[in-house]
Amino acid sequence: MDVVQFNFPTRILFGAGASQRLVPVLQEQGKQRVLFVTDRALAGLDFFQTLVKNAQDSGLNVAVFSEFSGNPVESQVVAGAAACKAHGADALVAIGGGAALDVGKAIALMAHHPGELFDYEDDKPDGRPVDQPIPFIVAIPTTSGTGSEVGRSSVISDDKTHVKRIIFSPRLLAPIVLADPELTFALPPHITAATGMDAISHCVEAFVSKGFHPLCDGIALEGVHLAAGSLLQCYREPKHLSSRRDMMAASLMGAVAFQKGLGVTHSCAHALSAVCDIHHGLANALMLAACMRFNASVVPDRLARLAVAAGAGSTPDDFVAWLESLTQSLNVPANLRAAGVSETQIGALTEIAVNDVCHPCNPRAVSREDFEALFRAAL
Ligand SMILES: [Zn+2]
Repeated sequence: MDVVQFNFPTRILFGAGASQRLVPVLQEQGKQRVLFVTDRALAGLDFFQTLVKNAQDSGLNVAVFSEFSGNPVESQVVAGAAACKAHGADALVAIGGGAALDVGKAIALMAHHPGELFDYEDDKPDGRPVDQPIPFIVAIPTTSGTGSEVGRSSVISDDKTHVKRIIFSPRLLAPIVLADPELTFALPPHITAATGMDAISHCVEAFVSKGFHPLCDGIALEGVHLAAGSLLQCYREPKHLSSRRDMMAASLMGAVAFQKGLGVTHSCAHALSAVCDIHHGLANALMLAACMRFNASVVPDRLARLAVAAGAGSTPDDFVAWLESLTQSLNVPANLRAAGVSETQIGALTEIAVNDVCHPCNPRAVSREDFEALFRAAL
């Protein structure tokens, strides 16, 4: 029997108004020079400017880096690390969706580490060690999807190829998370849908992935239960607080659970983002049901338990049918073609998916031919 390692995240202040605890948290840590990291769109919003102003009014020395948008690339991290050094930041407040949180963590890494960002890529044979100080990170999510706020990795794309690279270190785990569901009230419905399906994909893929991790399995099942009871409500009524609360919890739980592993859906999604620039959550939403149908023959019991957790029946077919009906209700495009993918891109998609790091954890082995068939079926 193998010895396995279980890791769980650190301190989370969770609930409506949690983001207002930012200044006391920074003061209690004795921090004085703070760099806020957020994307261009969020930097212009009232809630962000209020957080920055409150920090300034409390006597903290504040700078903002917001020169990025969309899927983050390496050059944006380089610019952010320069801003962090120029400010002499002893704390970094990363606010936003998964992209902003990942950029924040990568900037924190590069604030005091030599070389280039991708020298720290996960499992790189001649990679550099993460052994220098990292500024104190406060993570404040504004979406309920990636769960990057409780993750130990940062996903940044290569500027030229757009291939996603994973920077991993336990030291990238934010020591404190302020999870405030009110910050998700303003999300447009299609982003609520896409990010919510990402959270569900994390729970589902973690639960069926290979390996023995009953702690993650329990968290994943409860995450599916919470998301099943709240995502549609968030989509239809954006300011429904208890639904937003449940989705924010499901998002955190999905990211905690997927330290166990992800699977074939995420490999397909990473390819769709790289080749077709499709939003990560939407890409998962487009592939999840088909990928679970692909897995059904090897993990029928697991899919049956997911059906029960979702309140959707008791068989693998019930679970896949529930996923299909949910994405339909969320107005996810009916297929890849409707999302802008063309048949000529299947070769490139397959190439990236088969080389992705996620599918080796999938319960059923996925060959190149399998990926091609999955993309064709989803077209
Ligand atoms: Zn994901």
